[in-house]
Amino acid sequence: MQKITIGVYKTYKNAGNLRFHRTKTKKHWRHYFIEIDEDDENDYSFGTEWVSALKAVVLKRKQLYKKTFYCTDCESVFTSYVKKNQNECDECPNGCE
Ligand SMILES: [Zn+2]
Repeated sequence: MQKITIGVYKTYKNAGNLRFHRTKTKKHWRHYFIEIDEDDENDYSFGTEWVSALKAVVLKRKQLYKKTFYCTDCESVFTSYVKKNQNECDECPNGCE
C-alpha cells in the first residue's frame, strides 16, 4: 500500500462531540490520505489519521497534488499526483517517457 497525502489540516479533535466544551478543545493536525494498492491503481481508499505537529510539517512537505497533464507522445490527457511545484509528469499511463 502506498500512502499519498492529499491534505494536512488543523482541526478540533472533538468537533461534533458535545461532551467536550469547545473552548477547552485544542486543535490538532489531521492527515488526509489515499491508500493505493501498488498492483492495482484503481483499488484505493481514503483514510485519515491524527498526527503530531512535527509529523504534520513533514507530511505537508511531501504532500502531493492531483494535476492534469498532457502527453505529447500519445496525445492523451491524464491525471497524476505530483509535488506542488511540479508542472511536468513523466509517468504517462501509456508508458511514454
Ligand atoms: Zn503518453
